[in-house]
This record gives sequence, structure tokens and C-alpha cells, in this order.
Amino acid sequence: MYKITLIPGDGIGPEISEAMKKVVEATGVPVEWEIENAGEEVYLKEGTPLPTRVTDSIKKNKIAIKGPITTPVGTGFRSVNVTLRQTLDLYACVRPCKSFKGARTKYENIDLVIVRENTEDLYAGIEFKKGESETIDLINFIEKKSGRKIREDSGISIKPISVFGTERIVRFAFEFARKNSRKKVTAVHKANIMKYTDGLFLEVARQVAQKYPDIEFEDRIVDNMCMQLVQKPELYDVLVLPNLYGDIISDLAAGLIGGLGLAPGANIGDEYAVFEPTHGSAPKYKGLNKVNPFAMILSAVMMLRHIGEFEAANKIERAVAEIIEEGKVLTYDMKSSDDSTLPVGTQEVALALVEKIKKF
Ligand code: NAD
Repeated sequence: MYKITLIPGDGIGPEISEAMKKVVEATGVPVEWEIENAGEEVYLKEGTPLPTRVTDSIKKNKIAIKGPITTPVGTGFRSVNVTLRQTLDLYACVRPCKSFKGARTKYENIDLVIVRENTEDLYAGIEFKKGESETIDLINFIEKKSGRKIREDSGISIKPISVFGTERIVRFAFEFARKNSRKKVTAVHKANIMKYTDGLFLEVARQVAQKYPDIEFEDRIVDNMCMQLVQKPELYDVLVLPNLYGDIISDLAAGLIGGLGLAPGANIGDEYAVFEPTHGSAPKYKGLNKVNPFAMILSAVMMLRHIGEFEAANKIERAVAEIIEEGKVLTYDMKSSDDSTLPVGTQEVALALVEKIKKF
């Protein structure tokens, strides 16, 4: 029996978690879900959106799967997702974007893996609020040390990128490439402008690449990367990126395969792994049984492979592929305007998958 922490999340999280649970259970893999809530409702009740019982559960079970969690914009608590990744040192975010036959997209045969650094960069959440005394101190300090003036009414976010953090994420990307018979790793950066952060990322990536002569290595500047991915995505294989570019490019790559509803993800560290879809909590669809559960279910596929349950993972993936190719039991986001069949709800997709899996 596997004990797995399940964080349903908020917004559409609980619905897609329910769908995912049904599908995993249909494979017969014995799982005991340890359900732990986090997010806004927990914040209102317990004064923190991420109580230690949640991280304790993950530390105990080593494996977790989570639905998305809303992050209030501008004010309120810090992102639970970012805190979780930092607390558990889940330094690698892996997001495969692979085409499914029949999915509604302009592109065919996309097969990319985005490896995003998860703990550093502008995303680390080291921020100084406009007008606060620490911020003014920092502005004065920077002016004294660099001779550069920052306007007094500025807010400041810090972008740390270290040799340690870069080395381990680039190594992770190459090891991933090797294990999964991938041919090439592309490092993405803006080293021409941010010489001491992105420049460091590129320099360290080049050094690490030398240890993997069997895998091709190249680099791209992030703006060019965006254009290249839109024009010729077939040229790329594994991409490794600092946190913020990784966040943005992940959504771009999800768009290439037919949208966020199809893009799974994993946050992996040396000790723990937390699986979650790329998409957010889509609050406007909360409780409507409307959204696509595939990204959450495909995150469970990644989780099953991680724990060595390959047969169950393959069965779910095959069922998802068949449902997409058949084109009938699909949620609104996967339907084209000229489709004669109506979209179905989240739980109907789950039931169709369960029926297929039971027949395999
Ligand atoms: P979002 O991913 O929630 O939504 C973007 C668009 O995609 C919306 O149009 C939405 O309706 C659609 N969409 C998302 N998931 C879908 C699904 N499964 N099926 C069909 N359509 C889907 O992004 P957002 O609106 O920028 O963010 C909403 C909230 O989610 C924010 O508070 C954000 O911070 C949070 N968020 C959380 C995570 C996470 O928990 N890891 C990730 C991203 C965003």
C-alpha cells in the first residue's frame, strides 16, 4: 500500500483531484491518500495557508500530488506553491509537453520537456515593499555601492542565481535526458543583459554540459526562444531554464500541445516529489464540473512512474490518448467550434477513463 499525500487545493483543485483519484484507483494500484488541505480557506481558519501538518505529511510519505492553489495578487499570503517548493527543496520542476493525436492545436508531434529551476531567481519571493524603511535602506545602499539611482517610490524584487542552484538543475536536466533517451539540452537565459545572474547560469550550464558529451548542448536567449518555439518547436528537446523564464515558457509549451488542460508537472528534489498540473486554480470555474482533469491525471501518471508503477501509468496514458483521439468525451477546452458533440464535465471524463482502464 502506498501512502501518498493529496492536497486538493482550491478553485477547481478539489474537482480535478476527485477525478484523478478515481482514475488512479481504477488501475488497482493500492494507494492510501493522506488528504491535507492548504490555501485560502485554511489561511482564514488557521492563520497560515500552509500549516506544518501539510509539509510534515509530505516529509513522511515522500510523495504528494496537489491541485492548484490560488495566490492572492499584490497583497495577502505568499504563494503556497512557492513556499512548498522552497521548504521541501523541490528544486526541479519537470513539465513534459507532448502532442496527443486529435488534440485541438495548430502543431503536431511536439515532444518537449521543460526543466525549470524552482528555488531561486526573481521567483524566490525576496521582495521589498515600496516606501518601507528596509526598502529605503536598500535603495540607499545600492546607490552607495553602485552609483546607480533607484527611484524612492520603487518596490524591489531580488533575483539571486547561484552556482550551486544552477549546477544541480542543469545536472538534473542532463540526467533526465540520459535516462529518457533524449538527444539535446538547451539552456535558456538573458545573459546578454543580466550578466551576473543569467550570465552565471549560462557559464555554469556550459561547464556541466562538458560532463555529458553524449548529449548535445546549446543555448538560446529567452526572447528568441519564444519565437523559435512558435516557429519550429520540432528543433527542441529538453529545455533548462531559471525559474521565471521556466514559468513562462511552460505555459507557451502547454499552448503548443493544446492548452493548460493537458500539461502535467512534477516538482522534484533529492528527497521528496510533489506532482501537480501546470495550470492554476481557474477560480471562475470552481464547482461547475466543467474543467479538464487531464493535466492532473497526467501528473498522476508521472507520479506512478516515479514510484515504479509503470504498467498503471501506461494504462492511464493510453486511456487518455484514446479518449482524446475519439474526440467525444471531452471538456469544453478541447472541443472545436465545428464539433457536433457537446462538451462533457470533469467527472464524466474521469468515468470514461475508468471504464477504459478496467477493460485493458
Ligand atoms: P489558470 O491556469 O488558473 O487559468 C488560465 C486559463 O486557463 C483560464 O482561462 C482558465 O479558465 C484556463 N484553465 C486553467 N486550467 C484549466 C483546466 N484544467 N481546464 C480548462 N481550462 C483551464 O491561471 P491564472 O488565472 O493565471 O491563475 C489563477 C490562480 O491560480 C492564481 O491565483 C494563480 O496564482 C494560481 N496558480 C496556481 C498554480 C499552482 O497551484 N501551482 C499555478 C498557476 C497559477
